[in-house]
Amino acid sequence: MNFRELNTLEVILKITERCNLNCDYCYFFNAGDDSYKGHSALISNDTVALLVQRLKEFSEEYELQRIAIHLHGGEPLLMPKARLDRICREIRSNLDPVVDLSMTIQTNGMLVDLDWIETFNRHRVQVGVSLDGAKAHNDAHRLDHNGRSSYQATVRGLALCQEHLNQPPAVLAVIGEDFDAGEIYDHFRRDLDVRQLDFLLPDLNHDNFSGNAEAYGDFLIEVFDRMAKDEESVGVRFIDHFLARIYGQGNFLFGDGNDDPDHLLITVSSDGGVGPDDTLRSTKYWNGYDYRDLKSSSIGEIIQDTLFHEFEHYKKTPASACSDCCWRDVCGSGQPVHRYGSSKGFDNPTVYCEGLDKFYTHVVRHLALHGEPLEKVGADLI
Ligand code: SF4
Ligand code: SF4
Repeated sequence: MNFRELNTLEVILKITERCNLNCDYCYFFNAGDDSYKGHSALISNDTVALLVQRLKEFSEEYELQRIAIHLHGGEPLLMPKARLDRICREIRSNLDPVVDLSMTIQTNGMLVDLDWIETFNRHRVQVGVSLDGAKAHNDAHRLDHNGRSSYQATVRGLALCQEHLNQPPAVLAVIGEDFDAGEIYDHFRRDLDVRQLDFLLPDLNHDNFSGNAEAYGDFLIEVFDRMAKDEESVGVRFIDHFLARIYGQGNFLFGDGNDDPDHLLITVSSDGGVGPDDTLRSTKYWNGYDYRDLKSSSIGEIIQDTLFHEFEHYKKTPASACSDCCWRDVCGSGQPVHRYGSSKGFDNPTVYCEGLDKFYTHVVRHLALHGEPLEKVGADLI
């Protein structure tokens, strides 16, 4: 990989490595990698200052156009407010003059209040709230450490965000195999008036997936059909990205969800360790991976690690079994974490292949039937 052609660096920044929830599907806490136990609960001011310095050096050296910083946890709002305010100020004041900087935060919403919202508005931080649907759906996986529901607190936080944030929040939901997509879509739209949504496939791979892949495709089809009939304009990120891909924009659908093909994603731990996309921690591929320390290495040096190069190679190289699939150049075999299996590494179609194939076909047929010129959507795809 030639990282010299990068336009965008995405940084998943673990400002906290603890959480007030204990979601059973959490790739960070409950997928077998306990490295968080040896990391600081909260990132220190010194680590943030060092990261900012490293990012400045890197963006100048690589002539980056854009840096996207995603404030993650654990639950990032476990950070004291004054400290998060300082972190955002440090990042903005140092990087705004150098690159096009965007900042997001992904929260379970339970601790959101007006002070937090003021901080997000002040620093132009786009907020994503994690919520899987109505109470029964959300309670299926998103409980606290004592088994209590998080639904009411999250919905209250989401409502505050909707009322007071300058930029409307997005809701991020993980799909359950037996979840009712229609009920969930209607709950988000009618009950909660959400207009920006995303649905994620669970972080499973060939070593631990035993479900019905088609059910996930049916879920996405139902969401697409409801979205198509919705009288208001609703953004569903996964679907919007698919539509962009079939019109030839961007890279593979699962290339970190970023529209810029020349981008790289790094994860920075609360101790200032750097590694690749850490959703991989839910696979055996990640076993024993040692984060590289920002104190002793620049970002330019760290991304020369074999794991970064291998991972970027796999992301850009569809599995051999996908060579005859008409969706290959759109799907790219799916998200790397879903492609992994201990026997063949990443050389597998995603575990959700059957469902995605069904979903892709449904959407393109819908477009064709509704008058989209076939040459535009790719006649060979259907
Ligand atoms: S809220 Fe997020 S970080 Fe916390 S346990 Fe749930 S999925 Fe993991
Ligand atoms: S739909 Fe399935 S076979 Fe086709 S590219 Fe995607 S993972 Fe491969």
